[in-house]
Amino acid sequence: MEFKAILEKAAAKPRNISAEEMGTLLAVAGGDRLSALFSAAYGVKVRNVGRSVAFRGLVEAGNVCAKDCLYCGIRKSNAKVGRYAMPADEIVACAEFAAKEGYGSLVIQSGEMEGEAHTRFIEEVLGRIRPLGLGVTLSLGEQTEETFARWKAAGAARYLLRIETSNPDLYARLHPAGHSWERRVECLRALRRCGYQVGTGVMAGLPWQTLDDLARDIVFFGEIDADMIGMGPFIPHEDTPLGDRSLVSPAFGPGAGPPSKEDRLLLGLKMIAATRLYLHDVNIAAATALQALADDGRERGLLAGANVIMPNVTDVRYRRSYQLYEGKPCLDEEAAQCRACLRLRIASIGETIAFGRAGDSPHFHRRQAGRTEPAP
Ligand code: SAM
Repeated sequence: MEFKAILEKAAAKPRNISAEEMGTLLAVAGGDRLSALFSAAYGVKVRNVGRSVAFRGLVEAGNVCAKDCLYCGIRKSNAKVGRYAMPADEIVACAEFAAKEGYGSLVIQSGEMEGEAHTRFIEEVLGRIRPLGLGVTLSLGEQTEETFARWKAAGAARYLLRIETSNPDLYARLHPAGHSWERRVECLRALRRCGYQVGTGVMAGLPWQTLDDLARDIVFFGEIDADMIGMGPFIPHEDTPLGDRSLVSPAFGPGAGPPSKEDRLLLGLKMIAATRLYLHDVNIAAATALQALADDGRERGLLAGANVIMPNVTDVRYRRSYQLYEGKPCLDEEAAQCRACLRLRIASIGETIAFGRAGDSPHFHRRQAGRTEPAP
C-alpha cells in the first residue's frame, strides 16, 4: 500500500494497520514522508488527547539494582557507580515539591529490589504522599502480584514496566541468564488484574534489533492493551557490555555504521509517531533520553505524538549516580530551573501544560467505561 494511504488508514481508527504496514512507516528515512508521518501522528494526538502536556515529577529514588541488564548504566555489575537509596523523607519532599509546582502527578522509579522490607518501605512512602492527591506512577521493576496489589491499595494508580523488546530471542541476548521475558509479560498481566493503568515500552535502536522487531513491539503494546507508553532511544553506556559502539542496530539501515545522535533520535521519534497512529488515545511520554540526544528532543517528541513529560525532581546530588546512558541532561539543574526552562520550551511549540491535573490515560478510562472510541 502507498505510504499516504497507510497514514490515512492508521489515522482513521485505532489498530487499523498491520505490522508490515507499520514497518513501512518506520522505514521512512526523511523528507516529505517523514514530515507527513509526524503531522499525521500529531493530528491523531490532538484529536484524542488535545494540545496539552501532562507533567509528572520524576523521582529517581535509588540505583541499587538486583538486575544485570547488559545495556543499563546502573546494572548490578557496574562497580563504578556509587549506590544510593533515598530515605522516605526525601522522596516525600520531592512529592511535596511536585504538588507545590502544580505537576499533578509523580513517578517513583528505581533499580529493582524485591522483598518484604522494600515492599513495606514503598507502602509507607505511598501512605505519606497520598494526602497530596497526586496521580502516582511506580516504575520499580518486576514484583510479585501481592506486592503490586499492596502498592495499589496504598495509593499507586499506574505502573510502568517496559518490556524492553517484544522479541523473546532478542530479550535473551540483551540480558544475562536468569532474566525472564515471560516473567515481565506475566507482571504486565498481574498489573492489569490489580487495576493499575498499565504502562510499557521498549528501547529503539538496540544492537540486533530490526525494524520488524520495532513494528511488532507496537503491535505488542496493542495486544497487552497498554494504557501508557514510555519508550525511548537506546543510548550506549560505556561501562556496560552493550556500550561497544560497533554493535549497530540493523534498524538504522543495511550495513550502516555507528548511528549519529540524530539517527538515534529520529528512530525514537518515528516510534512515538507510529505508536500514536496505532493506539490513538494512550498516554505517550517524551522520554528524557530524547533530550539526551538533542536539546529540543522532548519538544520534538511532543510534535511526533507524545503528550507526557517527566521533569526530574530528584535532588541534583543524586543525578550523576542515576545515569542509565551517556549524556543524561540536566545533571546540575535544580528542579525549579527545569520547570522554568520546560515552560518556555512547551510554549514555543504552541502547547500548554496541564497544571494540577493527574493526567490519567484516556484509554484506561474508556476501557473502564466500555468504550473504544473518543467520546463525541
Ligand atoms: N528497574 C525498573 C525496571 O526494570 O523497569 C525501572 C528502572 S530502569 C533503569 C528504567 C528503564 O531505563 C529501563 O526500562 C530501560 O528501558 C531504560 N534504560 C536502561 N538503560 C538504557 C540505555 N542504555 N539507553 C536507554 N534507556 C535505557
